[in-house]
Amino acid sequence: MEKISPKELIKILKDNEIKRFHLVYKPAAEKVEPSHKELQFLADFINSDKRDFEEHEAMFFQLTDKYDVLQGAFVHRTKRGQAAGGVRFWQYENVEDYLRDGMRLAKGMTHKNALAGLWWGGGKGVMIHNTDFNKQDKEYREYVYTEYGKFLTRLKGCYVTAEDVGTSVEDMANIYKSTRFTTCIPETVGGSGNPSEPTSRGVLAGMEAALAFKGETLDGKTVAVQGMGHVAEPLIGHLFNKNVKKVIAADINPDIVNSVKEKYAGKNLDARVTEKGDNSILFEDCDIVAPCAVGATLNDKTIPNIKAGIICGAANNQLEDHDKHDKMIADRGIVYVPDFLNNRMGIVNCANEQYGYVDNDDFIERHLQKDWKHGVYQTTLSVLKEAQKTGKPTSEIAIKQATEMSMQEHPVFGHRSLKIIQSLVKNKWFEK
Ligand code: NAD
Repeated sequence: MEKISPKELIKILKDNEIKRFHLVYKPAAEKVEPSHKELQFLADFINSDKRDFEEHEAMFFQLTDKYDVLQGAFVHRTKRGQAAGGVRFWQYENVEDYLRDGMRLAKGMTHKNALAGLWWGGGKGVMIHNTDFNKQDKEYREYVYTEYGKFLTRLKGCYVTAEDVGTSVEDMANIYKSTRFTTCIPETVGGSGNPSEPTSRGVLAGMEAALAFKGETLDGKTVAVQGMGHVAEPLIGHLFNKNVKKVIAADINPDIVNSVKEKYAGKNLDARVTEKGDNSILFEDCDIVAPCAVGATLNDKTIPNIKAGIICGAANNQLEDHDKHDKMIADRGIVYVPDFLNNRMGIVNCANEQYGYVDNDDFIERHLQKDWKHGVYQTTLSVLKEAQKTGKPTSEIAIKQATEMSMQEHPVFGHRSLKIIQSLVKNKWFEK
């Protein structure tokens, strides 16, 4: 496919009076088919892709009447349950990048959810921000997220959305106004609230497992943390509670650095303000580095300079080039705890919120306990041991384990979301 811009795709849609469309995988033909012949070029692109497409069950799209925002629901695999994953509102230069991002992120959610033992499939929502408008404009956002909710209602539950980077509690409230197919709704209407503290404990469990794998504990260790935000701040506290010798931390926001310093006054915290793009915190002389800021920080430039023996942090998509950098880290003898393994608590905390809440909820807490087979600790140990046995990088092993689990069907509902997809196609959902 020639790289076309979102605006060019939107023109094609309007010229052909297409408001909604889908690209659905047909197993018998072993290819994706479009809902409209005019969009065959999109299906051709996906069918020719070897990197991000992996028999995604379906991708659904709609163009909003106002503001021309293209909204998508990418459904990867739903054997374990409805596709679950957050929705992001992002800017894309071309449609190819957009489709690739959606497919990659949806697949990532299949891995994260399956490896966590959740009875949910994997999916992701991605909407293309129309740069003619101000992304922070209240009216614009309210319209876009409310329309997204209506879109999910039309999809009859094969994808259930959640919060993601760039999507706020207010945005989630707007989605919830027009669909029941969402989690991470505001606490005021029964939502599960901010997951950052449990996420920090998930990262801690990953660190402890990586150390146990080496016959060590956190006692007396030095940990370098990139980012001092919602996850890193409680993580630093948990590290001190585990008797680490020192925490070195960096953030680009001086206010955040100051407030975390104040919170841990009297502790051995060496915190500094860094420039955006300065990854030198990862090169500290320490035992563990924890990337807890942004993605793609593990790359050609950073990996050769890492001195720590363990990498374990919350940031999503830490490996810039997945296969290449997974291997590069393994070749350096560094133990890498895959991000989608240890940062699962964001989705764990909200995925089952419709079942209500109990104190010290076992369905959440067991992910953080050392003895549960599917908890962060045991899963990390199992991945590290298999990586050692096979000589393969850890992320590759984690994906292999996750893929096996993602093939198990939901014990009660089976592969119901596939039936939902099939009925949407049969009933021409896009015309309604
Ligand atoms: P956050 O926005 O609260 O914190 C991120 C911090 O990183 C901010 O303080 C920001 O100023 C800082 N930062 C950005 N670029 C930086 C850089 N180059 N160097 C140093 N600091 C930098 O986000 P969070 O909720 O703490 O999440 C952190 C990461 O973990 C994100 O990648 C997020 O997607 C991922 N994650 C979070 C959760 C959760 O429960 N919050 C769950 C899963 C994954």
